[in-house]
Order: sequence, then structure tokens, then C-alpha cells
Amino acid sequence: MTVVTRFAPSPTGFLHIGGARTALFNWLYARGRGGKFLLRIEDTDRERSTPQATQAILDGMDWLGLDYDGDAISQFDRAHRHANVAQQMLDAGHAYKCFSTQDEIAAFRDSARENGKSTLFRSPWRDIDPADHPNAPFVIRLKAPQDGETVIHDDVQGEVRWQNDQLDDMVLLRSDGTPVYMLAVVVDDYDMGVTHVIRGDDHLSNAARQSLIYTAMGWPLPTYAHIPLIHGPDGKKLSKRHGALGVGEYQAMGYPAPGMRNYLARLGWSHGDDEFFTDAQAKEWFDTTGIGKSPARLDFKKLEH
Ligand code: GLU
Repeated sequence: MTVVTRFAPSPTGFLHIGGARTALFNWLYARGRGGKFLLRIEDTDRERSTPQATQAILDGMDWLGLDYDGDAISQFDRAHRHANVAQQMLDAGHAYKCFSTQDEIAAFRDSARENGKSTLFRSPWRDIDPADHPNAPFVIRLKAPQDGETVIHDDVQGEVRWQNDQLDDMVLLRSDGTPVYMLAVVVDDYDMGVTHVIRGDDHLSNAARQSLIYTAMGWPLPTYAHIPLIHGPDGKKLSKRHGALGVGEYQAMGYPAPGMRNYLARLGWSHGDDEFFTDAQAKEWFDTTGIGKSPARLDFKKLEH
């Protein structure tokens, strides 16, 4: 099996250290296994995505030497395909049209809260015969299983379980026919032949919901590796006050790209006591099993040497 990984940034800002590390890990994983490394720009959020951010991501990857196979894919350009898959799920009975309005959903939540019940929205349209559907705007929702568990086998996190009664019937297609991000990611990963998804563990719970879409479509799940986020030297989640976070800033300061790659590779991954390695060694050695479960700490001093 050819390994296929991808980096799937949302072009809403510069390429920061966390994103660059994710890209590097995916690149190393694929390149060390004779596989492919793909780039997908997740530009479905039209309000927050900008061409400048896309360019900054491309420039950052170029500087770091993270070459990708084929052309960068725009997620937005694939909206028709995403809508088509939602329709297929509807036709197969894995999804349904929900006519509940925002006001009705808010009222449901208010009343659930008042009565001390779960505020997880259960649409009354789940089991309504299509013959009884009104002629009104609707969203398409996934018919999620309501009992049992969803289990993800993750190369970093191990086995992770969710009770299905905690997962809602998520919206797949909005009333204006646009896909939600969760659907777009699954359809794109499947169509691009992605075999390994290596990304930040802020996406771990998304994996549970995404797996429901894979299962409904009868598609095999990719192998997941959710990596702990990077923390600052003070142990807190990385933020602006920790200093330079954009890859471009390091480039502008004159840091050499190979040193930056070495530094990024060691943020959360290790190979014995080795501190410095060549690209060839990193490609040969890199494996998701060498990624720790606790957050990597950023130590700017290490970069200066
Ligand atoms: N676009 C998402 C992000 O930038 C990544 C999604 C994914 O890797 O599945 O956080």
C-alpha cells in the first residue's frame, strides 16, 4: 500500500510553528516510506480565508523545503462533490432533511436546560416520511447511531472511545447547499486517497464524528495520529505572547531552513537521544510511535544554537 499523507491548513493567517510541524511530520512520514505528501487548502470558510494567507503557507512550505506531490487542492472548489456525497447519504437513508429552524432549535435547548436534560439537539425530522416534508428550507443531517460506542484507534492516543448518545446528528449540508467543514474533510481525504491523517489533537473529537461519515459511505477509515499541541516555555498553550510564532519570522531572522526542520521535528517527536539529524535520517527514523502523548514545549533557546 502506498502511504498518502496530507497537510490541510485553513488559510486564515500565516504559517505558524504548530502548522509547520504538522506539515513536516506528514512530509517525513510519506517521504520516508516512498509515499505521497499532498497539500489541501481548506478555504471553505470564505469570510476568514484569504489569498495572502494561502500564499504565506505556500511560501513557508517552500522555505522549509516541504515539497508536495501534484497541485495544491482548493477545498472550496470541490463544494459540488461534497454536496453530491450528502445527497448520496440522503438517498441511502444515512442522512435526512431537517426543517427545524434556528429558533426552534434554540427553544429546544432552552427547555432541555430548564428541565436538566441533555441539550444535544434531537431533530423531530429524523424519522418523518419524506412524503410529509414541507416545502421549506432544510439542512441535511447525518443519522448518527444513538447507542453503542464509536472507537478510534489512534497511533498516538491509543484507543479512544465515545458514547454514541453524546454524538449529535451533525449538519452535513447547510440550507444554502454549502457543505460543512466536517463533511468536506472526509470527502476530500477519501478522494485524495489519504491513508494516514497526522494532525493536532484539537481534531481528535472531530475524528469521531468524521468516522461516522466514513462508515455511512462504506469507506475505509484512514490511520489516525493526533499529536499533542505545542505549549510555550511556561507550559501554557502557545500564543502570541510567547514571541515569534510565524515560520516567516524565523526565515526573516536568517535561521537556516535545515535547522528549523530539525527543531520542528523534535517538537514532540524524538529518536533516542539524537538531537541533530540529517534529512535522510529524519525520513528514515520518523514514525508516529515516537510521538509523545504530552504537549511539546517550545524552547526558543534550542533554536539559537
Ligand atoms: N484545516 C484544519 C486546520 O487548519 C485541519 C484539518 C485536518 O487536518 O483534518 O486546523
